[in-house]
Formats: sequence, C-alpha cells, structure tokens
Amino acid sequence: MTADLHIHTTASDGRLAPEDILERAAAAGLAYIAITDHDTVDGLLRLQNSSPARPGQPVILSGIEFSADFPDNEVHILGYGFDPLRPELQRQLELLTRDRLTRAERMTAKLAALGYPVSFSRVLEIAGGAASVGRPHVAAALVEKGYFPTVSAVFEALLEKNKPGYLPHYKIPARDIIKLIQAAGGIPVLAHPALVGDDRLVREIVRLGIGGIEVYHPEHTPRQIQHYLALADETRLLVTGGSDFHAIPGRYPERLGEFTIPAQLALRLISSCSTHETDGSGI
Ligand code: AMP
Ligand code: ZN
Ligand code: FE
Ligand code: FE
Repeated sequence: MTADLHIHTTASDGRLAPEDILERAAAAGLAYIAITDHDTVDGLLRLQNSSPARPGQPVILSGIEFSADFPDNEVHILGYGFDPLRPELQRQLELLTRDRLTRAERMTAKLAALGYPVSFSRVLEIAGGAASVGRPHVAAALVEKGYFPTVSAVFEALLEKNKPGYLPHYKIPARDIIKLIQAAGGIPVLAHPALVGDDRLVREIVRLGIGGIEVYHPEHTPRQIQHYLALADETRLLVTGGSDFHAIPGRYPERLGEFTIPAQLALRLISSCSTHETDGSGI
C-alpha cells in the first residue's frame, strides 16, 4: 500500500483539476493522498464537498503548503490533518492569495521591462481561476510566447529567488505558520528540507516546533534521505513524503503514482492529528 502526501492541483500551480487527481490516484492504487496547494484549500474543499468516497478511492488527508518568510532561503511548510474551514486560517489564506494576484501583475511589469512582455490577463487565463496564482503560471506565459523552451528554463533565467524577474509574495513567519496549522488541529511538516540549502536553518525550524520532516521528495538524493531520516529520528519527528506533483511537462514526476511512500507513514501522520476521529471523519 502506497501514499502520496504532496500534490498540487489547478487551485494553485498544478495542471490537473482536483477531480482528475483523485481519479488518477485511484487508478495508480494509492491508499492515501494529500492535496497540498500553495496558500489555498480550494482544491481540497472541492473534493471534500463532492460525491462521497467510493471503494478503491484513496483517503484524502487535508493539506496545504505555505512559504515561510526567510530572506535568503526558500522554506516551505506543509500542514496536514487540519480543519480547512477554521476562520483564522481562512483569513490568512485570503490575505496570501490576494497578495499573490498583485505580485503576479507586478511581475509581468518587471518582465516587460526586462524585454519579455506578457500580458497579465494572459497569465490569469493560464491560471484558469486558480485561487493561488504563482510563478509557474507566469513562466508558462513566457514559454507560450516562445521566449523559453520550458517552465524550468524560465525559472533558471528569470524567476528563481535573486534572479532578475523574481518578486517575493507576502509570507508569514515560520513560527506563525506552525501556530496557524496547530490551531486548526493540524501537524506542520518541514517540506523538502534539502531544498532549504542550509541545515542550521533546518534545525532552527525544527526548534520552532515543527511536527514532521518531509524526508521523501523527488529532489532528495538517497544520501539526503538517510540524513533527514537520522534527523527525524534524533528529534523524534514524524517522517512524511510525497511527489510534489504538478503535472507540468518536463518536471518529474510526470505521472501520479511514479513517486510514492509507504502507506504506513500516512497512517502514522493521521493518528497524530488531533482532528482525527475513529470514524475517519475530520481527517
Ligand atoms: P511561488 O509560490 O509563486 O513563488 O512559486 C513556487 C512554485 O515554483 C513551486 O511550485 C515550485 O516548485 C516552483 N519552482 C521553484 N523553483 C523552480 C524551478 N527552478 N523550476 C521549476 N519550478 C520551480
Ligand atoms: Zn507549486
Ligand atoms: Fe515546495
Ligand atoms: Fe509543492
């Protein structure tokens, strides 16, 4: 039995609708999945409010991915098993997604000044009504214009942190993200720690009260996996993992089910959530 606890949908910068994710996850035989969109729970709510689970479909764990406010490093914090309707969480998500819109607009202005004009309205069309607009939508508009062959090439040239087209969006401090997730009954997990690029910072975030470490991620090498397994063991933190699936061509993994973790890890996470009830509701 397998699980995938890191999946993006069209509610943020993934290219498959939540319903398509569910269908493909079932086809791939996944027992547990988590929708972890950037700064939004819209995709998750769409699935939770649609038809009840059918036999053979995976259990859906509530999830989200926040970006923390550090000046030089990309630090992402995942949340699991929380109540997505908690008012304080909803209020923060509203602020974050609203700022992402103005940031995308300012980004198109910046890119035009750099010699890569794309219209903001085209970026919004590409985003297709996503609650959370992100750099991959802007990058896709540049690829469509023929400036670059792939989304990754756009990031490398212009959109990575400290590259000329980059602009930050409003971010919450790590300590507050952790509190927000816990106050909604969930477990905060440090996403892809190897991508933080600084193990002192990783340990600092562990000390802030994180509940788990995303040890298994497609960009982690076998050595890094061993390293973060040892850190999770030492600090008595939960171990999680997922594919960080976006369905963006050329970005691994290309298919759901290509990168999975043992279902046992998802079960341990679920049984640690305070929203967990024996009848399985509220996960
Ligand atoms: P944002 O939250 O709008 O700043 O964008 C974050 C998204 O950009 C995430 O999906 C990342 O995986 C993606 N991303 C970050 N760096 C790269 C890169 N070098 N190539 C492709 N995608 C990237
Ligand atoms: Zn993403
Ligand atoms: Fe991330
Ligand atoms: Fe992600």
